[in-house]
Amino acid sequence: MTDLTRFRAFIQSFTRLVESAGGHEAQLFAEGEPLLRELIADDDWLPEVFATAARDRYQQYLLWCDPLERFSVVSFVWAPGQRTPIHDHTVWGMVGVLRGAERCEEFSRDPSTGNLVAGKVHPLPAGSVDRVSPRIGDIHRVSNALPDRPSVSIHVYGANVGTLQRHVFDPATGAAAPFVSGYSNASLPNPWLPAGGRPPA
Ligand code: FE
Repeated sequence: MTDLTRFRAFIQSFTRLVESAGGHEAQLFAEGEPLLRELIADDDWLPEVFATAARDRYQQYLLWCDPLERFSVVSFVWAPGQRTPIHDHTVWGMVGVLRGAERCEEFSRDPSTGNLVAGKVHPLPAGSVDRVSPRIGDIHRVSNALPDRPSVSIHVYGANVGTLQRHVFDPATGAAAPFVSGYSNASLPNPWLPAGGRPPA
């Protein structure tokens, strides 16, 4: 049985942060990244059902959504060989690698032609945090960097991300298509479960 104390502390701290920062992105990144780094520093809290890869595609499990939809927390799980499409986010987001390693390819769009322009490619080892937003760069493709086992990352976004109208992009033409990611899970982890397991019936 995992102990969700660490996760509960994270969502409490992050709720306080969105209360104080509002839509101030620089403050959310500056104060939110240390919270995410602390959450992913120990891999002892994520229930296995939210860290389970699927054969057909990468999984995105909603772990928490702020009741006012000011932020959401999602675990992404890639089996070997799996990757996202090239996509945007439309809101601020942070990616923290909990387990394994990932690879991020950045893109931008040529404003005159709409073509995709490949940018930096960077590795994301366990413990690292990456940032996205329309202001700092919002288009990327993320893949599992490991050939032999799943990788898991914890993402925080400035909205209920699974319901957002976003875009995926054709790598060859740059053409954008509408995209709503949804979530892979029907129920959420219970961050209020006492440490050590279920209470007596
Ligand atoms: Fe992304």
